[in-house]
Amino acid sequence: GTFDHMGLQENLLRGIYAYGFEKPSAIQQMGIVPFCKGLDVIQQAQSGTGKTATFCSGILQQLDYGLVQCQALVLAPTRELAQQIEKVMRALGNYLGVKVHACVGGTSVREDQRILQTGVHTVVGTPGRVFDMLRRQSLRSDIIKMFVLDEADEMLSRGFKDQIYDIFQLLPPKIQVGVFSATMPPEALEITRKFMNKPVRILV
Ligand code: AMP
Repeated sequence: GTFDHMGLQENLLRGIYAYGFEKPSAIQQMGIVPFCKGLDVIQQAQSGTGKTATFCSGILQQLDYGLVQCQALVLAPTRELAQQIEKVMRALGNYLGVKVHACVGGTSVREDQRILQTGVHTVVGTPGRVFDMLRRQSLRSDIIKMFVLDEADEMLSRGFKDQIYDIFQLLPPKIQVGVFSATMPPEALEITRKFMNKPVRILV
């Protein structure tokens, strides 16, 4: 397979190739197209399979760049992972002019508020800081239309279940949800049952 026949925007393809990817990995071959169609997707995959570029491409393809307001939210279990995803999103979206910000604990709340105030297309973060930003309305959720949980099993085992549920309550009801997880423990299945609509399941 190639990235060329997925219906991706020219400037997204440029970003993918400039980043050094030549061919899609298995998860990218199976996952990018359904995500780009706006479908809810559960992707059971270990890290190292290329899952980051799968949901980053799906998000980057669907953003309205004329609207500098948060339209996609990605949650990850650790600061390091959130910042890593932020970098990939920025690199793949380089030719699209994407504005992305990582909201993670251990950094200045004021600085987060300042950056969000200037306007972003997408936010990547850890559940605690993201919930804080939503609660303060520094991060507006009105037009968020894509929500991704990365390493969902890891987030649950770190005790983020309540915060994930709290965040869901603050998001618009009709939202595309992507769940990426290496394993599917009962709590992860519960999330997929409660918050997803006819999800496509992809197992790598
Ligand atoms: P991930 O599973 O998203 O953490 O990705 C694991 C590693 O594979 C990262 O170093 C990526 O940069 C790399 N990678 C992901 N997709 C591709 C691809 N299509 N071609 C080459 N490397 C890739």
